[in-house]
Amino acid sequence: MEFDFVVVGAGSAGCAVASRLSEDSRYSVALLEAGGRDTIPWVHIPIGYFKTMGNPVTDWCYYTEPDAGLNGRSIAWPRGKVLGGSSSINGLLYVRGQARDFDHWRQLGNTGWGFDDVLPYFKKAENWEGNADDMRGKGGPLNVSQSRVSRPVIDAWAEAAIAAGYKQNTDYNGADQEGVGMFQMTMKDGLRCSAAKAYLAPAKQRKNLSIIVHAHTTKIEFKGRRAKAVIAKINGIETSITARREIVLSAGSIGSPQILMLSGIGAAEKLHPHGIEPIHELAGVGMNLQDHLQARPVFKCNSSTINTETRSLFQKMGIAFEYAFRRSGPMAMAASLGTAFLKTRPELETPDIQFHLQPFSATRPADGPHAFSAFTASVLQLRPESTGHLELASGHYGDHPKIYPNYLATKTDCDTLVEGIRIARRIGNTSPVKEMITSEFSPGEAVSDNYDGLLEWARNSSTTIYHPTGTCKMGNDKMAVVDADLKVHGIKGLRVADASIMPTITSGNTNAPAIMIGEKVADMILKEAV
Ligand SMILES: Cc1cc2nc3c(=O)[nH]c(=O)nc-3n(C[C@H](O)[C@H](O)[C@H](O)COP(=O)(O)OP(=O)(O)OC[C@H]3O[C@@H](n4cnc5c(N)ncnc54)[C@H](O)[C@@H]3O)c2cc1C
Repeated sequence: MEFDFVVVGAGSAGCAVASRLSEDSRYSVALLEAGGRDTIPWVHIPIGYFKTMGNPVTDWCYYTEPDAGLNGRSIAWPRGKVLGGSSSINGLLYVRGQARDFDHWRQLGNTGWGFDDVLPYFKKAENWEGNADDMRGKGGPLNVSQSRVSRPVIDAWAEAAIAAGYKQNTDYNGADQEGVGMFQMTMKDGLRCSAAKAYLAPAKQRKNLSIIVHAHTTKIEFKGRRAKAVIAKINGIETSITARREIVLSAGSIGSPQILMLSGIGAAEKLHPHGIEPIHELAGVGMNLQDHLQARPVFKCNSSTINTETRSLFQKMGIAFEYAFRRSGPMAMAASLGTAFLKTRPELETPDIQFHLQPFSATRPADGPHAFSAFTASVLQLRPESTGHLELASGHYGDHPKIYPNYLATKTDCDTLVEGIRIARRIGNTSPVKEMITSEFSPGEAVSDNYDGLLEWARNSSTTIYHPTGTCKMGNDKMAVVDADLKVHGIKGLRVADASIMPTITSGNTNAPAIMIGEKVADMILKEAV
């Protein structure tokens, strides 16, 4: 098999890359995906993330190594393994991040990645259903809508946050992120708008685009320092796919560094123990791992929540009918309804924490909702300082890499999360939500506002909100893996384009930035190709 471009990984970024490259009929493009087609209905029904997460048909089902910052706990790290990648199993929340995130990337030496540079690609990707303005895109493939669902307790929380002194923000993806508002989501007509739905569905008839599923890339083959071919197990059969022009790795923050290491690109001392001869030494592969860690305060309340609305078969049938006939109700709900981007200290220039307000609660998603009515005011630190890493567990492509997130390893990270939990409590104590809360379920009244107690609770109960980034970071320093054109340092014909190239994590959910990265690299490749 031979193509002009071979794209590895049909996730948020990879779908955008393959679709945009194949718009030019002069080039043939192969898109290889380890997972299968997105034919499972739960991929398309918004609430389906409860069924696709932890399901080996759609999720890689990674687990972290025991983490000291979480008092030795090992936690699940879902990643999409299906057309659309993580955008097919994610919570649908659409967040670009702060302008300052991208200006910081540019300040680090990444020319072309400042906010003014990336905004056109966010807009190009997007079809925003809300009011048009300079910041928002119309007519792009990725449909972004407002929520079709609301619950009084979440509205009351937002009102309480405003009463507590935080400002209202009706569009956190507009000129200013700061404030309290409702989430926007990647949804069209009540159905998930994954990257596959947005970019592949309209492109799949193109003769110059081959979408190959159940194609697990095992490594890249080189001729000298030039990437020549992708080796993949396609339905179990080893196949070589030659790239006449370029290979683009879009296998995500776990997959892309794993493939590089299996191909001999990484730190020699980490490759040798697995019998891999380094082709090119790049110490940064798999390093600089950043994620958002969420603490999940839960408040029992006296108003209706999903917990109490889904108890009986009769209720569930009602919900199914509401979705079938009106595409609304709990089944049309993204992972959270309300959000707030706030500052833990007034002297900060921009928000450093984000809330996810969910009209349900669970100890673990797999256990189902609690038996009582309650909501969750999940809080995370937007720009953690702690960085982790991942490394190969073996030289076999089928073995999951070892993931070391290294959460809560700096004082700023601990202080910020503790302050976020205190703010959750303070807002919970403010009218009108105060009157709806019957008690604090967790941390619980036994845990006082004392710093050590709250931190200990966070270490024992916090979990990922599924945003690993940065493991093939863009830059010029010795730990950088790709340059500002996303070309792998020291290698020809090979780029990485996905969430792994972020030098620092964006201030918010990471799907929209990953898609933006895919849009931007495709544009760079096509401009260079002429
Ligand atoms: C459960 C969950 C909930 C989330 N919720 C949200 C949310 O609400 N909002 C938000 O903005 N972000 C959310 N995220 C994060 C967001 O979806 C990701 O940051 C984003 O999708 C990453 O895009 P990517 O292109 O880097 O990787 P991915 O989308 O993960 O794509 C990588 C693709 O490469 C494939 N692949 C990997 N290895 C190989 C290989 N060896 N061979 C072939 N193919 C391979 C994978 O199967 C996958 O399809 C969530 C993520 C998860 C998992």
